[in-house]
Parts: sequence; structure tokens; C-alpha cells
Amino acid sequence: AQVPVTVTVTGAAGQIGYALLFRIASGQLLGADVPVRLRLLEIPQAVKAAEGTAMELDDCAFPLLDSVDIFDDANQAFEGCNVALLVGARPRAKGMERGDLLEANGGIFKPQGEAINAGAAADVRVLVVGNPANTNALIAQSHAPDVPADRFNAMTRLDHNRALTQLAKKLGVSINDIRKLTIWGNHSATQYPDIFHAEVGGANAAKAVGDQSWIENEFIPTVAKRGAAIIEARGASSAASAANAAIDHVYDWVNGTPEDDWTSAAFPSDGSYGVPEGIISSFPAVSRNGRWEIVRGLDIDAFSRERIDASVQELVEERDTVKQLGLV
Ligand code: NDP
Repeated sequence: AQVPVTVTVTGAAGQIGYALLFRIASGQLLGADVPVRLRLLEIPQAVKAAEGTAMELDDCAFPLLDSVDIFDDANQAFEGCNVALLVGARPRAKGMERGDLLEANGGIFKPQGEAINAGAAADVRVLVVGNPANTNALIAQSHAPDVPADRFNAMTRLDHNRALTQLAKKLGVSINDIRKLTIWGNHSATQYPDIFHAEVGGANAAKAVGDQSWIENEFIPTVAKRGAAIIEARGASSAASAANAAIDHVYDWVNGTPEDDWTSAAFPSDGSYGVPEGIISSFPAVSRNGRWEIVRGLDIDAFSRERIDASVQELVEERDTVKQLGLV
């Protein structure tokens, strides 16, 4: 029998947590033959709700679920952790400045980085979902000096999946026909969904669309503002699709991406494509042997350059803010 993999989920009692935990326990995060030990972290006021979710996990009698433990202490929650999904974050309140939001999140992600450094397993992989995800990941990473920096990722897979569907609908094809789409930059309104290197049935997707105005004025804003559109429609945020994207990200990170395709993931830059080293930016990425590699050698035209630069500039500013606050 396989040794169980320890998965720590923060913000476990929240909306995304509720959509995520059952899928992890059913084997969709790592593979259908990998048993899972869940360690849930919540703030003290939400521990009782997390216990309720754990009762439901029990009631599913998942064959792969080895155990569920609930904590309000980060050091305990990350002990022996192989995969960490950092979902809990401080939501932006009305009128809150970006600096205040980053500071509040520093109070969450700094101690979590320290706890991962102190107690996680040697192979730990960390995916940050809680916003602002890229900079929260940077804060955690900078407080885990003994963990390789590239083990800290931020999620742009939901943006990637959203872009795949918008493009498939426009072209009247299946998402299975589309390859090599890219989300660049920050998981924010400045993100850049790039179809200039994407392929549809082997042909260039941007050429197949043949409508620059659609790309600029419909596709890019629709993908970037999809979260708000969903809140408007369902009266609640896109928790299930966010959870789904977290599953996709970790599954591919651990098990590899398909040949002849790539996906989008945010991890520390090595300086490629003009993204300053260390900035946690989304790139076109393949996963091989459990590590992300940036897809190299893509030609970036002026249109794409401007958008990548704008999103990366936002990430640089966020980094500078958390530096000034002493959080990295
Ligand atoms: P959700 O579970 O809906 O969201 C959690 C985080 O994910 C938010 O930062 C949210 O960002 C982000 N997110 C990323 N992508 C998406 C998406 N597509 N749709 C929606 N959210 C997205 O929040 P809840 O308020 O329901 O739950 C949060 C839980 O976290 C609470 O139970 C709280 O107690 C807990 N918490 C735990 C902490 C800890 O374990 N130490 C620390 C802080 C909170 P955005 O706000 O931008 O939508």
C-alpha cells in the first residue's frame, strides 16, 4: 500500500475549502491510488465549522482518506506537510487600500511561511490561492529560507481555464482542440491571457480568430473580469471553479503536463521574458519530474509585451510595498 500524502489546507471552512476538500479526499488532487492525510488550518472562530466539514468527509467514507485533523496553530497544521493549499486570506474590505490589504495578509502568510520552513516535509509544494495570491506567495516564500523558492506557487490556473473556454466558444471548437494558451503576470485585473502562441487543431489560434478587436475588447476583459461576473450572477464567488483550478494545478505539478501542450502557473521568475528574478509571475509552463519549467523562446510582439510589462510592473510594486512593510 502507498504511504499517505499529507495535504494541509488553510481556510478550510471557507467556500473554496468546502468545494476543495471532498475532491482532495476522493483522489483527484494527486491520483486515484494515493491515500491522503488531511490537516486543516482555520482561525479559532472557524474551527467549529471546519469540524462540521470533517464530519461530512467522514460520512463520505472515502477509501483514500486516511485521516482528518483540524488545527488553529500553523506549526501543527504544516507538520510533515507534502502539499499545502493556502486558501485562507484576508478579504479586501470596502475602501481598503492595497497596502493595508498586503499588511493584513502579511500577518497570515509570514507565520505560515515560517511554519512550513520549520515543519513541512522535504518535498513540500505550496500553492497559494488566497488573494492577492502572487504577493502572498512571495511573503510566505521569503520566510521559508530552507525550502527551495520554486516550491512556492500562486494560482493562475482558473484564469487559464476561463480563457480556454472563452476561446473554444468563440471558435466553436472543443476545449480539447486548444493547446498552448498562456496567462502572464499577476492573478489580478492586469493579467494577460495570450492566445498569440495558442493552437487550435494545430493552427494558430489568434489567426483562426482573425479579430484583433475581439481579443482586445472582449476576450481579455471577459477573462480578467470573470470573477466579478460570477458574483453578479450567482450572488456568491466562484468557489467551485477556483477549487477545481487548484486541483488541476497541483495534479499537473505532481504528475506532469501532457506532451505538446503547456499550462499557466505562477512561480518565482528566473529572469525569463524580462520578468525580474524572484517575482512570482504567471508563465507558460510545463511540469517535468515534479518541477515547473518556463516554456522558452516564444516571440513576444509589441502588443503582448506591453500587457506583460504592465502586469509585471504591478507585481514589482506589490513586492516593493511588502518590502517597505518589512514583510519580505
Ligand atoms: P473563499 O474560500 O471564497 O476564498 C478564500 C480566498 O481565495 C480569498 O482570498 C479569495 O480572494 C481567494 N480566491 C482566489 N480565487 C478565487 C475565486 N475564483 N473565487 C473566489 N475566491 C477566490 O473565502 P471564505 O471567506 O468563504 O473563506 C475563507 C476562510 O479562510 C474562512 O473560513 C476564514 O476563517 C479562513 N481564514 C483562515 C486563515 C488561516 O487558516 N490562518 C487566515 C484567514 C482566513 P478574494 O477575496 O479576492 O475573492
